[in-house]
Amino acid sequence: MSNFDHQRLVLAGPIEVRKEILEAQNQWMIGHRGKAFEVLYASLQAKLKQIFFTENSIYAIATSGTGFWEAAVRNCVRDDKKVLHFTSGAFSERWAVISKANGKQVDIVTAEWGQAITPEMVADALSKDTYDAVCIVHNETSTTVTNPIKDISDIVRQCDDTLFMVDTVSGLAGIEFYTDDWGVDVALTSSQKAFALPPGIAFCAVSERARQRADAVPYRGYYFDFLSLEKSHQKNSTPSTPPVSLMYAADKQLTDILDEGIENRWARHIKLRDMTHEWAANNGFGLFAADGYNSPTITAIDNREVGIDVNAMAAFMADRGFSMDKGYGKIKGDTFRIGHMGDMSLDFLQEVLDGLSEFVTVKA
Ligand SMILES: *Cc1c(COP(=O)(O)O)cnc(C)c1O
Repeated sequence: MSNFDHQRLVLAGPIEVRKEILEAQNQWMIGHRGKAFEVLYASLQAKLKQIFFTENSIYAIATSGTGFWEAAVRNCVRDDKKVLHFTSGAFSERWAVISKANGKQVDIVTAEWGQAITPEMVADALSKDTYDAVCIVHNETSTTVTNPIKDISDIVRQCDDTLFMVDTVSGLAGIEFYTDDWGVDVALTSSQKAFALPPGIAFCAVSERARQRADAVPYRGYYFDFLSLEKSHQKNSTPSTPPVSLMYAADKQLTDILDEGIENRWARHIKLRDMTHEWAANNGFGLFAADGYNSPTITAIDNREVGIDVNAMAAFMADRGFSMDKGYGKIKGDTFRIGHMGDMSLDFLQEVLDGLSEFVTVKA
């Protein structure tokens, strides 16, 4: 048995967090209306801007990705206008549900699970109607498809009054993403995926254009009001109590991410993906995501041909100290996912794949 002192997460999120990062949380509390907090907030902000590749304000508050989904549509879609959602998996579908739950008028364009949203689909939909915003998921974690956001941004940018809102929850910090170059007005992400932080803090880059839109929306709610967040942001502060301990952890982790080098980090994720694909091919498995759109941060293994018992696999791997995913939503069991994001090393992934090989062999 290998030497591990806890179940190591190979999930889609939350993911494994290094001990140094967990320990960085262990500092005395500070008052969040004092100078020390302003310094912490400003430090986070400077690093986040480099990781998001943006000059926009990045709000960092106590919430998860879901909170910023709600914020995006609530602030940026007027009641007498529509929002256009592209869906192709569980997360993109849920974002559309949230827009409806906020009383917005929603149009949905759907691709099959496992397929990508293409620039052609976006161009076609935008030629037929006008929208206050387009909502799209960068990396659809349920199907492990990465959508071509750069090419899609070229299309969306041709519509002057349409904001471009992107969920990059399992993408940013693991997969190439350029907020400003791609004209993304709202880019939102959580801490517990590719950032390899504990859950409970989320980050959202918001453009000036998006805030101008918010100004034209009378009822933006309270907790996620972009204008109020911006007002505090200008003073290196947050409107309500921030998750200070998580911010200490984030401050260290963002430094480490920048030390690795963001491009190096993207390249490491591609290597992790390629290793996973090679393992799949060598063991007779296909991949669920359409060719050419395979995610660098997570891989859904197509289990329909081989048909391993995913519960038995997870139990086998748990004995070896790995907490495994068993697939998500309606494709659970037909697929299982290998999360290979965050600070995962090639050696660690190799250990996971060796364990899986052993399971497949034992089973055969
Ligand atoms: C996990 C996930 C979410 C939900 O984020 P929470 O932080 O769990 O609220 C949204 N979108 C994608 C693509 C995700 O992977």
